[in-house]
Amino acid sequence: VCPTAALTEAFHVPKVWEALNDPEKYVVVQTAPAIRVALGELFGMEEGSIVTGKMVSALRRLGFDQVFDTDFGADVTIVEEAKELLHRINDGGRLPMLTSCCPAWVSFIEHQFPDLVDIPSTCKSPHIILGTLIKTYFAEKMNIDPAKIVVVSIMPCIAKKAEAARTELSIDHHDNVDIVVSTRELGAMIKEAGIDFNKLPDEEFDHPLGESTGASVIFGTTGGVIEAAVRTLHEWMTGEELKQVDFQALRGIDGLREAIISINGKDLKIGIAHGLGNARQLLEDIRSGKSNYHAIEIMACPGGCIGGGGQPYHFGNDKIVKERQKAIYREDENKNIRISHRNPEVQKLYQTYLGEPYGEKAYRLLHTSFAPKERI
Ligand code: SF4
Repeated sequence: VCPTAALTEAFHVPKVWEALNDPEKYVVVQTAPAIRVALGELFGMEEGSIVTGKMVSALRRLGFDQVFDTDFGADVTIVEEAKELLHRINDGGRLPMLTSCCPAWVSFIEHQFPDLVDIPSTCKSPHIILGTLIKTYFAEKMNIDPAKIVVVSIMPCIAKKAEAARTELSIDHHDNVDIVVSTRELGAMIKEAGIDFNKLPDEEFDHPLGESTGASVIFGTTGGVIEAAVRTLHEWMTGEELKQVDFQALRGIDGLREAIISINGKDLKIGIAHGLGNARQLLEDIRSGKSNYHAIEIMACPGGCIGGGGQPYHFGNDKIVKERQKAIYREDENKNIRISHRNPEVQKLYQTYLGEPYGEKAYRLLHTSFAPKERI
């Protein structure tokens, strides 16, 4: 069950078919990191099977005009979030900085800890960032009217459906993501279309918004967002190439973890929580002044997005979540580039369109604000 307490799951597949069948629409799909290590389970594959290439192939056969990777958005998220953290550390900003890419967790803090809403990173989540870039950067590049573009996000998450409708995340009153469907809904679409998933060839994402690094893949598991941020921070703070990118101290499956990462003689104290009960514990410590972390990653679902409410059901089976987690780290290891700011297409995006990371244009398009919400 979704941690946001959604009792019934909205089924948005008909909306996707409608968009795909509309010749006036240009339909772009993006897939979150956790989908590629779980979708295969819906087609009889073993837990932990990596099906990135078959997933892309299936999406192309379903009729999407472009198949992009939310991982590109995750790489941009890291560039922005790491810059924001550096800014807070160096300029006396409020610490700890909390990650903000999990909408169930953001909703939790807005409702339950309204006095702390200024501590999460202001960065939008990866699929919202990618949706924004599709309707601005990509639309301009391809000379397509953004009003004709429909962005469909395939997410491991039910809470992302509500997130996409948040007015705070829109640009000029237009949604950046139009439809969100879960991993299970994608599986249903593939079956409905009569596609033999297991026999599909492996295909590559489209360019340029399909390029990604290993750092963005690990967003799919608990500890991954903060490890990705540390990889970038390490290079920025030392000015040297990071040779060993695996930060084992940040990995694991325990619900509450902490680690100290030394960079250039400075100790960064990191906290990690998954599950909202664990998050509450960390937030109570911040509220009472007992916390001395620099940064904290929080994910609502057990294991992070690999265990999300939109994934193939795992019925609390830890083994399935652990196999998906192992697959996420294998996918990271298989990548040629494993640090977000080294993604060449992300570099091009900043050089030709956004300007400085965390600068005026990047902030206007890629950041938001959070506000206290009435307690429910
Ligand atoms: Fe969604 Fe769960 Fe991932 Fe949060 S941890 S973004 S609720 S799937």
